[in-house]
Amino acid sequence: MLKTRFAPSPSGLLHLGNIYSALQCEAWAKSNKAQMILRIEDVDFHRCKTEFSQQIMDDLAWLGIHFDGEPSFQQQRLDLYQEALDKLIAMDVLYPCFCSRKEIQSVATANPILDNYPRTCLALPPNEVLNLKKKKPFSWRLDTQKVAQLMGWKEAWIDANDRLQSFDVADVGDVIIGRKDIQYSYHLSVVVDDAQQGISHVIRGEDLRSSTPVHRLLQLLLGYESPVYIHHALLVDEQGARLAKSKYSTPLQLLRQQGLSADDVLERISKVSL
Ligand code: GLU
Repeated sequence: MLKTRFAPSPSGLLHLGNIYSALQCEAWAKSNKAQMILRIEDVDFHRCKTEFSQQIMDDLAWLGIHFDGEPSFQQQRLDLYQEALDKLIAMDVLYPCFCSRKEIQSVATANPILDNYPRTCLALPPNEVLNLKKKKPFSWRLDTQKVAQLMGWKEAWIDANDRLQSFDVADVGDVIIGRKDIQYSYHLSVVVDDAQQGISHVIRGEDLRSSTPVHRLLQLLLGYESPVYIHHALLVDEQGARLAKSKYSTPLQLLRQQGLSADDVLERISKVSL
């Protein structure tokens, strides 16, 4: 069965940029007779707010964007992420990292795609790791060198036209899979949810393209099927700047309060669409 999802993070309110993304998912679902579900990605409980989740759901209904089934909330699915994290730890493809952001910045080397962590904590002797684990909060990082040794140095994900988008596993960088503050990470929760909810196609903005290699590696490690990925262009303003940082980032809630109708909002989006 074909199935996609719209997965907003309630760390803020919907604006034209996220609505465009929801419309892309909806258009794809309609033209492929696929299901579309709503997933509220509130795993980061420091930044996400229940009021935002409520408003996002209200805004989507007001716009006439409807979903199959009930929305899901990552905060209600934490045990699934813990299970996946435990599995990866048992596979020995994650390692604990005790570094602060400041420490990393001071030694970071340039380049790798996502994360330029210089693998400092991998060099710690085992007894020091045990010691530090008792004393300091830590995150879990993906040991990409080990992953490459296990699975090969080249991998690929599949795009909308069934093309393989290959990448170098080593370039992915030792990204954080378990955050020291919220225990899990966006990468882990999104991969678990996509697999567990049977998502066949992920439709999301170009800004998340660089995360797709990480997601593909996690799917391989966890034995999940990989969805097809479609990364849509991001809306830009007249100056070519990302909407998120422009006058168009006005929350929909405010536009509604100003008296705009759903049709006005959709028309505004069509004007800035490519
Ligand atoms: N929650 C993410 C966001 O709002 C989207 C995640 C995804 O589509 O994979 O940017």
